[in-house]
Amino acid sequence: MSKLKNKVAIITGANSGIGLASAKLFLKEGAKVVLSGRRQEALDEVAETLEGDFITVLADVSKPEDNVRLIKEATNAYGKIDILFLNAGIAPIAPITEVDENHYDDIFNINVKGPILATKEALPHLNDGGTILFTGSIVNQKGFDGFGVYSASKGALRAFSKVLTSEVKSRGIRVNTLAPGPIDTPIYGKMGLPEDVLEETGKGFAAMVPLGRFGTSEEIAKTALFLASEDASYINGVELEIDGGLSQI
Ligand code: NAD
Repeated sequence: MSKLKNKVAIITGANSGIGLASAKLFLKEGAKVVLSGRRQEALDEVAETLEGDFITVLADVSKPEDNVRLIKEATNAYGKIDILFLNAGIAPIAPITEVDENHYDDIFNINVKGPILATKEALPHLNDGGTILFTGSIVNQKGFDGFGVYSASKGALRAFSKVLTSEVKSRGIRVNTLAPGPIDTPIYGKMGLPEDVLEETGKGFAAMVPLGRFGTSEEIAKTALFLASEDASYINGVELEIDGGLSQI
């Protein structure tokens, strides 16, 4: 019950889905957690359900100044950072013929610029021997219709994580990427699909997965805990698929 005792973890997108499940598990394992999200109401709601040592910080990861403030508030509260879990992301879908500049900018600003800027701000405060986790996706290994820009964003994040792994090597910082398959979280409701299409899309994904089902946020959180903890002390620079085998077929 104390795999993260005395560790300070920042989690972005912590008021929902994978980020929230991870925040709960990290707290249970003794971490001090900085939960970040972009809606104060959601953060307040979540805060009422949590137990342990945590703070919430309102921050839109696509804004440089919010990333600066996030890291400042985290270090003001806890004096250090051990785990930087850059998980916030969006996945609106559009066929390539319907992609416009806003669609592109929204996705890249949140899924790519956000984690890159947060990393830059956090690095001077991240403990040597600390760890960075990104939430990527298996989507960039496949070719799912409508996910063009989203796939490109997760591919870009993966490319960034490889360079980062090398750039922080002298400090013993491990950098790893979670690559979830279809996970049952609120993200599907935000894709902009009509209810019936959403249901069919969901069934289609579940049928493609060798294990025949969606994963849960808790299953991703357990993997995040593993990668963030000493149990994964020699795992560095990987992209770990947690997808019921979907990426392998
Ligand atoms: P979710 O919608 O439940 O959570 C996304 C979180 O990101 C929310 O807390 C949201 O508020 C936050 N967020 C979005 N834009 C933000 C911004 N500008 N600033 C700060 N926070 C912002 O969905 P989830 O499935 O838990 O998604 C978490 C991560 O997992 C995302 O990066 C997503 O791309 C990735 N992912 C999800 C799946 C899946 O099937 N659910 C699969 C692969 C990857």
